[in-house]
This record gives sequence, structure tokens and C-alpha cells, in this order.
Amino acid sequence: MTVAVISDIHANLPALRAVLADIDATAPNATIWHTGDIVGYNAHPNEVIELLRERGVIGVMGNHDAAAVGVIDALDFNPAAAAAIAWTQSVLTPLSREWLENLPRIVELGDATLVHGSPSDPFWEYIDSAERASANAETLKTPLLFHGHTHRPRLFAASDPAGPVHAIHINVAPISLSKHALINVGSVGQPRDGDPRACWVLWEHSDVEGSRLGSAMWRRVPYAISETQAAMRAVHLPERLIERLAHGE
Ligand code: ZN
Repeated sequence: MTVAVISDIHANLPALRAVLADIDATAPNATIWHTGDIVGYNAHPNEVIELLRERGVIGVMGNHDAAAVGVIDALDFNPAAAAAIAWTQSVLTPLSREWLENLPRIVELGDATLVHGSPSDPFWEYIDSAERASANAETLKTPLLFHGHTHRPRLFAASDPAGPVHAIHINVAPISLSKHALINVGSVGQPRDGDPRACWVLWEHSDVEGSRLGSAMWRRVPYAISETQAAMRAVHLPERLIERLAHGE
């Protein structure tokens, strides 16, 4: 089974289109999953939801999705993020709203769990240290976790089946997965690791005994950032959100 996992699209339609084209070129038969934050920050919430619905992409609710449909309060967001949520609420169609409202917080699919932040705190916790990764790995019912929220691609994994998880260096080659792995798939629509290109993960789930969990490979995809920025300017989204896309921050 081949799965493409995407996250933190944040209503960035040019970035999503570029990623879907890369998925189609790299893994044409892949099933596509997402780990939330479909909307917020950028200018194309309805178009992004429509494209995900068309492609049958399944996944979970992120904190920005939750704020956009009133499940949580956007008062807890920074002012630029809150302004983007208020704008998103003003343009969401009833169909988009219903699609977002029906996203689950957490979902288990075979060997993998999907969540936005962490299993202990799906909307808010950032898995950004080996300690947090280990604490969450202990609560998992599946060997693998795909998540997002930090907008930074990351892998925490165990070197041997019984061992604790620790940070593993990510490179462009496929990385084989051991018993426990927490896979941050990075962000499609607002990367924050200094690389402005959109990010996604290809999971090749092997049937071979001994390497049953297969491998994960992070992909980076250039897209028309200026197109996203022009669409944001046209609807007066905060300048800080427009600028940061060029720097991947
Ligand atoms: Zn996000």
C-alpha cells in the first residue's frame, strides 16, 4: 500500500495543486491522507476543501479548522492568525463548514494513527522534543503516528523495537521505519523550517516480513508563492502572513 500524507495546507491552493501534481507523478496510485489545518492563514479555504473532497482525501481536524467552525475559540490565537480565522468564517460555504465539522479529532487506519497535534492533545500540543515524542508514543495503539501542527518536517523513531524514540535526521532518501515512529509530515501551505517549498510524505507500506512498516520519504515541491500572496492581498489578509511564505518561516 502506498500512502501520501499531507498536512497544514492552510487554504493555500497553488501549494496544494503543486503537491497533488507531485503525488500523481511520484505515486499515481497513492491513497491520500491529511493531518489537519485545512484552512486558516491563506485565501482559498473553499477551493482547497473542494479539491480534497474531489480527491477523496481523508483525515482529521486541526486547531485552525476547529476555530473556523467554532469548536474552539480563536481568541487563543495570535492576532494575525485570529484575523485570518475571522475572514475564513466570513467566506466559508455551508458545504465547506459541514465538511470541516465532520472531521474527527483522531483516527486509526491499520498501522497508523492520524492526529493534528498529538494523541494527548490533538489541537494544541507540539511534538517538538524526544521527551514529548516518547510520552505520546507510549499512548499509541498503532506503531506509527502521522501528525503536523509544528509545520516542520520531523521524525522521532525507535532504533530497536523495544527502545525509546529519539530524533532521526531526515534526508531526501526513504527512511525505513522501526517499531515506533512519529512522523511529522511538514506543511503544504506554510512551511516553517526555512525552506519555503511545500512538503509532503510518501509512505510505502511494505508487505515484506521484517520490514512490515515500510519506509517514509519527505518530498519538497516548489510552487507559485507569488500567486498565493496576490490572492491574500486581494482579500486584505495580514501582511505578516503574506511575507512569511517567501521565507518558509
Ligand atoms: Zn497549522
